[in-house]
Amino acid sequence: MIPVEEAQAIVLRNVAPVGEETVPLAEAVGRVLRQPIRADMDLPPFDRAVMDGYAVRAEDTAKAPVRLRVVGEVLAGMAFSSSVAPGEAVKIMTGAAVPTGADAVERIEKTEREGEWVILREPVRVGQHITRRGSQAREGEIVLEPGIRIGPAEIAVLAAFGYATVRVARRVTLGVLSTGSELVEVGARPSPVQIRDSNSPTLHACLTMAGVAAHPLGIAADDLSRIESSIRLALERFDGLLITGGVSMGEADLVKVALHRTGARLFFERVRLHPGKPFCFALFEGKPIFALPGNPVSVLVTFLLFVLPALRRMLGCRAEWLPLLEATVTEDLQHSPERRSYLPAFVWFAEGRTFVRRVPWEGSSDLVGFARANALLIVPEGVTSVKAGERARVLLLPWGESL
Ligand code: AMP
Ligand code: MG
Repeated sequence: MIPVEEAQAIVLRNVAPVGEETVPLAEAVGRVLRQPIRADMDLPPFDRAVMDGYAVRAEDTAKAPVRLRVVGEVLAGMAFSSSVAPGEAVKIMTGAAVPTGADAVERIEKTEREGEWVILREPVRVGQHITRRGSQAREGEIVLEPGIRIGPAEIAVLAAFGYATVRVARRVTLGVLSTGSELVEVGARPSPVQIRDSNSPTLHACLTMAGVAAHPLGIAADDLSRIESSIRLALERFDGLLITGGVSMGEADLVKVALHRTGARLFFERVRLHPGKPFCFALFEGKPIFALPGNPVSVLVTFLLFVLPALRRMLGCRAEWLPLLEATVTEDLQHSPERRSYLPAFVWFAEGRTFVRRVPWEGSSDLVGFARANALLIVPEGVTSVKAGERARVLLLPWGESL
């Protein structure tokens, strides 16, 4: 049995970033950026009015109230040819370029119009209601670094600087195989000794959220040749494989035997972890194989601790790890010290502090209990109890209900 960190280090050491491809902007959301994004111009590209009103010279308003002569009007998208001389103002609309000579905008609600004159009751300060040219980005500046996941805000940046196409990590595809003679498809009615396969759909969802394509390989009964042929097929076609079930010490636990028979190299077979102890990692011709325990909660915990960081490295993400936070435990709990635990928990904020409590949970098969968690409460190895009021480390479930 090896500690969690050691297992994580082995996994990360044995996966490498995949190649790149160029995609149209409309298809870039959710992908991992692989190029630095530079501003191709100042943004905004001109001093821009952020209010409807009058562009003026601030010094003209020092002795307000003042009357200024309105010499023209400028709307968004319109160029104003002359400049604003002392004693003059130009009517201006939001988004328009502030004419030369003017250095402030007074909003229309605070002015009075009398024919060709506008009256300002108060002085305005230089720069008021103007966004300065280049205040958001200077031409040539890097505005997005490679390794981030492209979301709606990044799409806006790419669009603003003219990136009609963008270089991203190529698609990664993993095969997903459930093993177990007790399993039936979601649409089937299980016999009294069967259960539905929930691991394939949950891993499919995990991969989708991680920006990786899942290729379902169905259910393999606990049969060596069936498992072996599914593994071979997956490794021929995809970038790697997720298998669940069949990795414990039972008679029907044949996944490790099948992996050996394919020629894959197993790096470790057990991690000092609860839930998720039987997690195994193997490589076949550079392709990672993650063999996850069959229990549904173990599947999700080992996905977060080992598979997700590996996928993030393959995609070229800047950070592999999910952020941890610290919270105050609100109830005493007992713990067996041999393994580190990641316990289904609920985190919340109150009065500026973060709290955490366990959710009622019947163990690593309790997928219903786990669905009430928004976090994992980490109890280190060597610890036999945690008392209410103590601080503990917490991993927020990336899909958890928002806090
Ligand atoms: P195993 O790791 O094969 O010993 O399985 C451990 C437990 O998880 C057993 O109770 C299995 O029935 C259950 N299990 C295994 N695979 C799945 C699956 N795909 N969906 C739901 N439960 C499963
Ligand atoms: Mg099994």
